[in-house]
Amino acid sequence: MSNRLHDLFCEAFPADRSRPCFITSDGNTISYGELEAGAAAVAGRLVAEGVQPGDRIALQAEKSIETVMVYLGVLKAGAVYLPLNAAYTSAEIDYFLRDAEPRVFVTDPPAYVRESRTFTPLDSPAPRADDDLAAIIYTSGTTGRSKGAMLTHGNLAANAIALHKAWAFTPDDVLLHALPIFHVHGLFVAMHCAFLAGCPMIWLPKFTDADVLAGLRRATVMMGVPTFYTRLLANPAFTREASSNVRLFISGSAPLLPTTFAEFEHRTGQRILERYGMSEAVIITTNPLDGERLAGSVGYPLPGVDLRIGGDDETGVIEIRGPSVFSAYWRMPGKTAEEFTRDGYFITGDVGRQDADGRVWISGRAKDLIISGGYNVYPKEIELILDELPGVTESAVIGVPHPDFGEGVAAIVIGQGDEAAMIAECRKHLAAFKTPKRILFVTELPRNAMGKVQKNLLREAHKSLFV
Ligand code: AMP
Repeated sequence: MSNRLHDLFCEAFPADRSRPCFITSDGNTISYGELEAGAAAVAGRLVAEGVQPGDRIALQAEKSIETVMVYLGVLKAGAVYLPLNAAYTSAEIDYFLRDAEPRVFVTDPPAYVRESRTFTPLDSPAPRADDDLAAIIYTSGTTGRSKGAMLTHGNLAANAIALHKAWAFTPDDVLLHALPIFHVHGLFVAMHCAFLAGCPMIWLPKFTDADVLAGLRRATVMMGVPTFYTRLLANPAFTREASSNVRLFISGSAPLLPTTFAEFEHRTGQRILERYGMSEAVIITTNPLDGERLAGSVGYPLPGVDLRIGGDDETGVIEIRGPSVFSAYWRMPGKTAEEFTRDGYFITGDVGRQDADGRVWISGRAKDLIISGGYNVYPKEIELILDELPGVTESAVIGVPHPDFGEGVAAIVIGQGDEAAMIAECRKHLAAFKTPKRILFVTELPRNAMGKVQKNLLREAHKSLFV
């Protein structure tokens, strides 16, 4: 019997295993053969130490190639990979360890791999089928207890195959990888595409202008969060010529501003391909590789993904069903039941609409929905108008307690300007109940590691604005 995910990757690795898998910024290469040997050593050690299929192996560490060896080794041993954000504090880690009860907790992957080499490497992978658990990803939930999304071998294999095809990866590609690998974006989306192509990755511990600009000279595909692209655009050295080797720039994890999309096209002649995904389903929709990529749209559902809008209105909460959608939250049957419809669709919590053409447009998170004077206000609609005003780089619209309206609309804006004049300008485009009652100017918005604006922090910071 086979091991679904491990075998899928290994069969796609280049026949000549001496070909590079990782290229580091100092020019070193680590081959696919070395990755496989590291993984076999880790798997051998796990099995020798009594790890059983289904046991969880947690890992919290800075990004490294050895982390990838541990990931692949865990899959090979039939265990369940549980990556944890390197920034979590020990109190947060405590919760995850108690909740997931991992058999092993790796905190120093290079040492772990080194010691694993003294064990007998595992030859044949532990059998694992589509329905067997491959990973648990704790969602970056900003309220309440963090939930562990359980992803199976089948979920991850289906998504990897779909993306490899949708974005037409080949062995000649070189993927620029500057993302963290404790999150689905860097861990599954990016790395699995490279594995299925058997192509190299330019492996950067994190985004720095210098490393990324140098890497782009050799890369053919770059995957990033929107902040990567705004940072590149802020650097005059990022020119059409500097990007000319790249065939595909992909963005996700947070909304890409239409202004970034437009400026990027102006600077490079290329359109960023935006896609939409989440821990619970990896990638759900993507703009087309060959068709038109539109600013503000996250594109079409991937083949096999069944997507609909909940409720009776044109705009509502996106619901999905499909081969990559997770099965349950770890040990939270109540939460799981709440977040699936009776006919088996996962309620994503993202609000959006699907146009006649099938394209999906996201207008925000359901929990960011503002209800002012009994009316629904979608922050995105207001943000799009603010972002067009002179002096505004980016905006975040929130609802905060208001004595008359329940919630009042407030805008936190990166930039400068005349508050009253800007409010008047918004009013020309928006009904009074949607128009911000206050606009506050800042130099920075709070973001998490994936570049998402943390509106919960903004709501907390400005909760007394109207009261
Ligand atoms: P996570 O589970 O941490 O990957 O977060 C998933 C959430 O990120 C989704 O539910 C969306 O709210 C958001 N997201 C991801 N990609 C996009 C995108 N292209 N546009 C808008 N929101 C996105």
